[in-house]
Amino acid sequence: MHIDLTHRVAVVTGGANGIGRATARRLAESGAHVAIWDRVPEIGEATAVALASEGLDVHFIETDVTRRASVDAAVALTITRFGGIDILINNAGITRDSQLVKIKDGSVTGGMTDDEFDAVVAVNLKGVYTCTQAVVPELLKRGGGRIVNASSVVALHGNFGQTNYVATKAGVIGMTQVWARELGKRNITVNAIAPGFIATEMTARMPASALEAMQTHTPAGRLGSPEDVANAYCFLSSDFAAFINGAVLTVDGGLVIGT
Ligand code: NAD
Repeated sequence: MHIDLTHRVAVVTGGANGIGRATARRLAESGAHVAIWDRVPEIGEATAVALASEGLDVHFIETDVTRRASVDAAVALTITRFGGIDILINNAGITRDSQLVKIKDGSVTGGMTDDEFDAVVAVNLKGVYTCTQAVVPELLKRGGGRIVNASSVVALHGNFGQTNYVATKAGVIGMTQVWARELGKRNITVNAIAPGFIATEMTARMPASALEAMQTHTPAGRLGSPEDVANAYCFLSSDFAAFINGAVLTVDGGLVIGT
């Protein structure tokens, strides 16, 4: 299958690093013009320069998905640079892990803070809402488009220490299904990807024992690579996925099935 995204313009939020960077590369390799929206200018610029040096049309725009004014400015800059938007990959995400309550000797000694909860909701849930609402008018002007959202397998099964993160990733699936209904008749498909455990800076912060346990329970016997997920984003962004709408595609090496 040869995916051809020539003349398409793609936005990848959180595209400076990890899965987002691999996705920006994969989309650009398929012919798309790619705008990386990320809040970290040093890494975002370096990523865009590195990909451009390989002949790929990738442009960095400093963007904080938690701020509507920043997202609106990023839409305007993307239009100025590329003339429109066809594909939105809502990939930006963060973790602030903590147990709901920490218990020692039968007493509660701490737990997740409101700041930890709110920070993750602001990026992973409200950021997806804000970027999608800002980009949809541009997709309509092009006669349709593709939106793919970052969920996670933990949205389907929960995960220890991730009340805030799991809530947002489950919420992303809900929003995906609503928007698939609302936008489907406008020739816009909205799908979600649910990665398992992928080797990026996000999972590098997890305890090594937890990552080993994930590998042990994965039939593929390894963590995923950012490219594994990027390939799925690219497929759902392509014409081959024209009749896929409201789906959640698990990319986890079989983790949820188990060994
Ligand atoms: P990462 O930490 O390597 O990269 C995340 C990127 O998002 C960074 O470049 C960061 O600067 C950017 N970002 C964070 N807050 C932002 C904001 N407010 N505005 C704009 N950009 C912002 O993470 P990753 O592992 O590549 O994960 C990417 C996505 O995939 C996330 O949504 C994550 O929840 C999801 N995911 C990851 C895994 C995994 O195992 N790594 C598994 C399931 C889902």
